[in-house]
Amino acid sequence: MSTTANRRWLLVRYPEGIPPLDTWRLEEAPIPEPGLGQILVKAHWLSVDPYMRARMSPARSYAQGVSPGNVMTGGGVGEVVASNHPAWKKGDIAESMQFGWQEWSVLTPGLPGSSGVNRVDPNLAPIESSLFWLGMPGLTAYFGLLDVGRPRPGDTVVVSAAAGAVGQLVGQIANLAGCRAIAIASDDAKLAWCREIGFATTINYRTVQDLGAAIEAACPSGVDIFFDNTGGPIHDAVIKRLAVGARIVICGRIALAGQFGKPDIGERLLSDLLVTRSSAHGFLVTDWWHRRDEARRRLAGWHREGKVRVRQDIMAGIERMPEAFLRLLNGKNFGKQLVKIL
Ligand code: NAP
Repeated sequence: MSTTANRRWLLVRYPEGIPPLDTWRLEEAPIPEPGLGQILVKAHWLSVDPYMRARMSPARSYAQGVSPGNVMTGGGVGEVVASNHPAWKKGDIAESMQFGWQEWSVLTPGLPGSSGVNRVDPNLAPIESSLFWLGMPGLTAYFGLLDVGRPRPGDTVVVSAAAGAVGQLVGQIANLAGCRAIAIASDDAKLAWCREIGFATTINYRTVQDLGAAIEAACPSGVDIFFDNTGGPIHDAVIKRLAVGARIVICGRIALAGQFGKPDIGERLLSDLLVTRSSAHGFLVTDWWHRRDEARRRLAGWHREGKVRVRQDIMAGIERMPEAFLRLLNGKNFGKQLVKIL
């Protein structure tokens, strides 16, 4: 990490489809100064997440996008090096989704309407966990499955992007709820690990001959909960195999990143929903933010007891942010993708 300048990634232009590497530009800027009520934080870890694709667009979404010329948006965790805020002091560890792709960030704790600046206890778990299983992806798995999916013992739960940050936790929480979890992912090594952490059956959607037939074989009584992390062809195949009263958690649509902004429903699903009396529920973790302490407490307990295992995929250096982000879109990440800031 530079201690004399702030290296940061700016968005150069809105990309079409999968962003090429020159979508962003690395520049050096002065280290920013915190104003009244603000803190200056030195990044230790930055997160890369699929939602970042949606931020690189002028299209309407649930959150403000980044416009060209500005620092790319993203979460991070690091150490407070200067504070003009009464509740924060030098040496505290702060996590925030307002960090940005940069080495130094000025944050404003207590801003209304945001997921905020959160204090991290370094004695509880490695601080990068606040970007993963104790943070946004962990809360997504927890509330998406338990509140939206409403699992019952004996349910069959199908999870796409199952080895990823969210998916790996969904499968394990489903097991804890007495369900049978089925993993769908692109790679045999990822799927072997999914079996190791408790998924009952796995399907490689890239190599299987007939995805629909494989889902049918894995779910003989149909799919009770579909935790849809991808949209696209996997979504279309699972939707044809719903059990009566199924719940579909519409969590992400990364399979459509290459057709960003275009219509995103493949197969018409109305008759499948009607016949099975299923419900499809659009889900955003930020709506559950007020209950984050509950989720963190339970996730930490399960982790401590060895009931939940986690896998992260680490790259090093701010220079690698675009490359790390693109790994998500081509399935190269094996576990939660993080970048360690050196
Ligand atoms: P992740 O699963 O760790 O990484 C993304 C994974 O998506 C890749 O590893 C890849 O795994 C899969 N993928 C990429 N392109 C694909 C394609 N064309 N078809 C099928 N799968 C593809 O990422 P994450 O952070 O856990 O996020 C998972 C999903 O949850 C994303 O869609 C994200 O937007 C969503 N999400 C939603 C919320 C919310 O509040 N709704 C919050 C967090 C995340 P494979 O090996 O399986 O291809």
